[in-house]
Amino acid sequence: MSLEIINPADGSHLATVPLTSADEVARHTEDAQRVFDSAVWSGLAPRERAAALVRLADLMERDAGTLARLDMEDAGKPIAECLANDVPGAIESIRWFAEAADKLAGAVPATAPDILAFTEREPFGVVAAILPWNYPLAMAAWKIGPALAAGNCLLLKPADATPRSVLHVEALALEAGIPAGVLRVVTGDGPTTGAALAADPRIGALSFTGSTRTGREILATAARTNLKRVSLEMGGKSPQIVMADALAFGDALVDGLVEAAFLTAGQNCTAGSRTLVHESIADEVVARLAAAATALVVGDPADPATQIGPVINDAAADRIVAAIEGAVSRGAVAVAGGGEVAVREGGRYLAPTVLTGLAAGDPILTTEIFGPVVTVQTFATRDEAIALANAVDYGLAASVWTKNVDDALAVARGVQAGIVSVGAYSEGDLTVPFGGWGQSGFGGAEKSLAAFHQWTREKTIWIQLGR
Ligand code: NAD
Repeated sequence: MSLEIINPADGSHLATVPLTSADEVARHTEDAQRVFDSAVWSGLAPRERAAALVRLADLMERDAGTLARLDMEDAGKPIAECLANDVPGAIESIRWFAEAADKLAGAVPATAPDILAFTEREPFGVVAAILPWNYPLAMAAWKIGPALAAGNCLLLKPADATPRSVLHVEALALEAGIPAGVLRVVTGDGPTTGAALAADPRIGALSFTGSTRTGREILATAARTNLKRVSLEMGGKSPQIVMADALAFGDALVDGLVEAAFLTAGQNCTAGSRTLVHESIADEVVARLAAAATALVVGDPADPATQIGPVINDAAADRIVAAIEGAVSRGAVAVAGGGEVAVREGGRYLAPTVLTGLAAGDPILTTEIFGPVVTVQTFATRDEAIALANAVDYGLAASVWTKNVDDALAVARGVQAGIVSVGAYSEGDLTVPFGGWGQSGFGGAEKSLAAFHQWTREKTIWIQLGR
């Protein structure tokens, strides 16, 4: 069985990759267990694993242009974005976790004079990761880095549509001297390949990034089978909260709102898809947001000038258009965009869309649209802003735009989300944890030393002395 990889820019055929069956997943898992048990990787000093991962990062840097092109072609992401964000970010992740490999330490608690107790973190053995299509390489790197640095063998399933950059990294890992079987890319779909990984009894931990619907299924499968540790990074409906003094940020405000809403054509887990703006400045913010959205260059992702590429496929385009049209039929106004743009035959391109005048309770205010669409709602007080921000089931990210420290902290503390940025749209850098609350996820953050909790388990060793 195989999967056809289609270029979202024009619907053309890019490649055919294997659709890995459940039996093949089982064989890969057995192989990975053998490699783990052989200690060719797990038995190395962390410093040696670090050196191999640094070589992998160097090779990714050497092939950065190829990796950017593969993500651009598979996912329809603008080449400028792949070159500036995705690929350098992925390389930095591998380096960061490589450098962290020998910085992990256990604890020696103060117990009693005749006891020596300490804790250490051990790899699981065979672990798995299941990836979304919107940041193919970047999401892979967040998982490869800590999983391998900790000594595990990783089965990595890229999204159905976007396997090629990750397959290239698998080849680079071998070139870097990482033993065969330590990083195995398993291409395939969700119902066959992904479900087999979720059910496999030898896999000790599974880290998933994707939609909340799939996350629930994976969790249910793990519960039914070996209760593997599951970490879920899922969807979002993140607010950008614009307080009354926010015009003091000048162009940075609208630049931030636009980046939040439209990066990767809004197909971004932390997309700031809800602008919540203080009523006193709403008219001006909406006018500037609409003008900036309209000025974005929608085009062929291979063109370095393109800022908004196609959406991933026909089904996504139909879903996004239906969501916009539904909101408009219920009284919303598209002050920018609102429909499709003809760029290339065979691709589906949507104009960056700003919707105002939404009725309270409109479903577009609570559903993840995963496209270039932002809604605008107004508020009168800080408490009202916090209540609007929290009126969704998701809790991935949020921003608050204010220079007032009291407002900034009150909103940051009041909003239920895993990361809140002030005066910026940001997911933070590698030094800080990234992970959702509520239906955006749980089970361990990505990035920072906290990421190692997904990929290691803690053991207490208790030694009775003097007997
Ligand atoms: P998706 O849930 O459709 O697919 C994600 C992965 O799960 C794919 O590899 C798919 O093959 C696999 N899968 C599907 N069904 C499965 C099953 N039954 N068992 C096991 N695996 C299965 O998501 P997507 O469309 O690729 O990605 C978009 C979603 O990802 C959005 O909701 C977005 O918000 C989310 N996302 C979250 C983060 C984060 O860090 N929180 C980052 C990027 C994307």
